[in-house]
Amino acid sequence: MDFILKGHDCEHAVQTMIQVFFPNEGYKRRELPPENGKAVVSELRDGVCYASVVENGAEQARGSHPVKPFINKADEKKALTQALALAIYKALSDLTGYRPPWGTLTGVRPAKIITELRSSGFSYEYGAGYLREAYNVGEDKISLCLEVARAEERFIAGSTGKDCGIYIGIPFCPTRCRYCSFVSYPMDRSGVFLEDYFRALFKELDYLGNAARDKNVRAVYVGGGTPTSLEPNMLDKLLLKIKTQFDEAAELTVEAGRPDSINREKLAVLKAYGVTRIAINPQTMSEVTLKRIGRNHTPADFLRAYELAEGMGFDNINCDVIMGLPGEGPADAEHTFETLARLNPASVTVHTLAMKRAAELNQVIGRYGAEAEKTAEPLKTVSDTISRMLEISRKACASMGQRPHYMYRQKNMAGNFENVGYARDGYECIYNLQTMTEAQSVLAAGAGAVTKVIYPSINLIKRAFNVRDIAGYIGRIDEMIGRKRKLLSGE
Ligand code: SF4
Repeated sequence: MDFILKGHDCEHAVQTMIQVFFPNEGYKRRELPPENGKAVVSELRDGVCYASVVENGAEQARGSHPVKPFINKADEKKALTQALALAIYKALSDLTGYRPPWGTLTGVRPAKIITELRSSGFSYEYGAGYLREAYNVGEDKISLCLEVARAEERFIAGSTGKDCGIYIGIPFCPTRCRYCSFVSYPMDRSGVFLEDYFRALFKELDYLGNAARDKNVRAVYVGGGTPTSLEPNMLDKLLLKIKTQFDEAAELTVEAGRPDSINREKLAVLKAYGVTRIAINPQTMSEVTLKRIGRNHTPADFLRAYELAEGMGFDNINCDVIMGLPGEGPADAEHTFETLARLNPASVTVHTLAMKRAAELNQVIGRYGAEAEKTAEPLKTVSDTISRMLEISRKACASMGQRPHYMYRQKNMAGNFENVGYARDGYECIYNLQTMTEAQSVLAAGAGAVTKVIYPSINLIKRAFNVRDIAGYIGRIDEMIGRKRKLLSGE
């Protein structure tokens, strides 16, 4: 889908809307509509944005939206991009019959729009109206935003300037899942790096322990990867280091994500060090899908791991599930949540598979080229299916007494949806709230980890990135620590 701009130069806004409707297609800017093929023509004229879709010289659909009055240059740009997006939305939704659930909103933290309006004195109702008018967000997404914004506001109200979180990345997994986008290496091939990785990681943790002495560490999150890929003796060493450096943290989460990485001995180590929260992730209760996505475990493995952990006294277990996995529909979501309802975990995180990942997965599972295109469903169909699955998940979590407390979106999510963390009251994840609200700093160690320092009074966030590959991280550990030292000293 190509595009033509007239009377404005907001290329990014136009590209973004094209991607919402045609996530797997390329696009390029042209001066004139092509003789063959489709193009979006957008124009700013006399304070109104116009959009049309032209195919082989003939107009297929059109839309328009007036630019809202603005008072300064920054507002002018915002008003123009919002009007352009709404005009293109109208034209493309008429053309395709697809109504994106989030309207023209593409940001990664939609609830933040409400919390920011609230901090400027506006009501929740005003925030809801703003999402409706400025972005055409659907009513169910608005109500989700309001619930999350309320939970985030409660969290922010209890924050002090000294509060922070610690993230520790263990980038090893038993095997690599086909949809994985994290820093993760299969243990059988990369386990040789383990000793050196720990040496580098401990050096970084010693630095962070000192750097956090004048802070209030509320949560430590050990993620990855799958930390429980480590043997019990290595888990023991890691947790001893964590306890030595960050003993005051009220929340200590260990991702035990893959059920095939869990056994009694490892759970006993977690218990001995007072781990407060673990994640055991089924993703789906369909054995066929699990095979298809290369998860290397079965639903029965998940049940065994969950019941073992529960029997050993873990009362704060989170379960991740993914909606939109290839070949799955509402019946699979029903089945997955029937099982979860029986287990009644303290929290469930509902992810939507990113579109790009879905496309890659299709390729991996054997649909190539034209075949993949032929079997690819129209976006409206994908969107309707995932909407129903998300509705099932929302109702199921509500019936387990869980409420949404954080939410984020990624680019290229199937049907342009969201990831939502649900939890029973009192079991909300502090670390995830720290990350999502961006109200508290997170100091991070390990390959690919990102440290984020928050300066709330001046509305500033500064970041320091660690290299993603293990060998690079090990070899350049002093540089990684140096980056953080510089960041934390305010240089
Ligand atoms: S368990 Fe998670 S981190 Fe590990 S390979 Fe699978 S998706 Fe990636």
